[in-house]
Amino acid sequence: MIPYGRQSVTEDDLAEVVKVLQSDWLTQGPTVDEFESAFAEMCGADHAIAVCNGTAALHLAMLAAGVNEGDRVVTTPNTFVASANSAAYVGARVDFVDIDPVSYCLSPDQFAIHCREKGNPKAVVVVDFAGHPAEVPRISEIARSEGTVVIEDACHAVGGRFGVNGRGFRVGGHPWADLTTFSFHPVKTMTTGEGGMVVTNNREYADRIRILRSHGIVRSKEEFRGELAQYDEVQPWYYEMQELGFNYRLSDIHAALGVSQLKRLNDFIGKRQEIVDRYNQAFENLPLVKIPRIANWIDPGTKGVTRLSWHLYVLLIDFSQLGKSRTVVMTELKELGVGTQVHYIPVNSQVWYREKFPSVRETMPNMANFYESCLSIPLYPTMAAEDVEQVIDAVKRVCQ
Ligand SMILES: *Cc1c(COP(=O)(O)O)cnc(C)c1O
Repeated sequence: MIPYGRQSVTEDDLAEVVKVLQSDWLTQGPTVDEFESAFAEMCGADHAIAVCNGTAALHLAMLAAGVNEGDRVVTTPNTFVASANSAAYVGARVDFVDIDPVSYCLSPDQFAIHCREKGNPKAVVVVDFAGHPAEVPRISEIARSEGTVVIEDACHAVGGRFGVNGRGFRVGGHPWADLTTFSFHPVKTMTTGEGGMVVTNNREYADRIRILRSHGIVRSKEEFRGELAQYDEVQPWYYEMQELGFNYRLSDIHAALGVSQLKRLNDFIGKRQEIVDRYNQAFENLPLVKIPRIANWIDPGTKGVTRLSWHLYVLLIDFSQLGKSRTVVMTELKELGVGTQVHYIPVNSQVWYREKFPSVRETMPNMANFYESCLSIPLYPTMAAEDVEQVIDAVKRVCQ
């Protein structure tokens, strides 16, 4: 069975993890520092803070952005539930705005309409769906004009680059997001087992996230303000909990895998692109199937600045014309050894959101059309050429 996604872990990765296991330091320590520095450099960002998973990264980004009880946060329905849940964790009300019909990311047009009608939210969470960047230049212009913080959930887009008007920008390093989050779950493009990262150019955000990642505790004398702090003498045992934080730390064991995987990130992205190219060529003329497209605000790859980091390969299939339901198509593909998945069930339709925000009845036609026809087919760097051809043959057999 060819799964829809799978990690690639080599002997080199294992050796790096074993080295940490044999060292004195297993929890957050020097290897986390090394991972953070290497990751910040890869993104071209000032600060990277490693955490225990991508959801924790989003939660801390919300707190750093100052989102509170009663605030509003806008996000896309076409994402994993964590993008929205992080806003709910801090007591915000979550509003969903329809997607763009080309990129399947949050639509800047719909976001503009939403802000005009309801006012700007405290924060907007954009998601680089499947690895295609959300249209951050326009979204951030609308957001920042009224002080909305832009959080980019880049869990699908690690290492991606995109060109705008001939200039190249990196996911995590471009000027249009205030905070960018990543996940290193095994199904993502690079893995640490479980793990996540927040990237920002804002020093205050970075400091706050570091403190919240570890119980809200500060350890430097300059920052003490508690009644037991004695400023005239050194108290080597002393630390202060100044706000209610969490244990969201990543371990050095996980970070070792991250450092090692990061060295192969370019290979992972290249291998995924090769498979995407082969799929595009094989499926572009299938009548009932639509292949992924790149929105035209992004310079095409030929200009040398765009290199998307594809996480998913999502086909839109006209199931009603085909005369088979998605369940039948998935079952037939499975019988041919091909695993598939649906990304995503619209988050606003999840039971918890329906029950929590009963007054909200969004009409989101683009999301509805997308959800009706999307199907993710296998995409991961260790797919053999025969696997790719097997998927292509199976899809052609089942979908025409
Ligand atoms: C995977 C994912 C997350 C959550 O990451 P975890 O590491 O599993 O907590 C959040 N948002 C998106 C878009 C994701 O794909």
